[in-house]
Amino acid sequence: MTSPFFEHIDHLGIAVANLAEAEARYTAMFGVEPYKREEVEREGVVTSFFQVGPNKIELLEATRPDSAIAKHIEKRGEGLHHVAYLVKDIRAEMARLREEGFQLLSEEPKPGADGMLVAFVHPKTAGGVLVELCQPKS
Ligand code: ZN
Repeated sequence: MTSPFFEHIDHLGIAVANLAEAEARYTAMFGVEPYKREEVEREGVVTSFFQVGPNKIELLEATRPDSAIAKHIEKRGEGLHHVAYLVKDIRAEMARLREEGFQLLSEEPKPGADGMLVAFVHPKTAGGVLVELCQPKS
């Protein structure tokens, strides 16, 4: 049996202090360069994406001190920031999860990096893991 709601893990998000250094480190690890670098102004981050088989790895560097990534690095240092799952209908999933008692960080999905609509589930209600739901913008 597989999840009837989540398609698969789309990507892992990793908070980094210096994107250029992290890109070099992960390029050495994966043997491939990132396929995309993209700033998400609203979230105060610049992101870089690697393709690893069917999955993606997203590196995130803060562009402002008030961004969630800056706060994460201040509190916990660099490392795993979120796990992102691809869903078919992000609004329906947000409603379903709310119904199940999960706390969503926004009322509506927001435009994220890599052509996605995204929404986050608070780690307090998800076993300490920040969960991202994502659906390609149509
Ligand atoms: Zn992400």
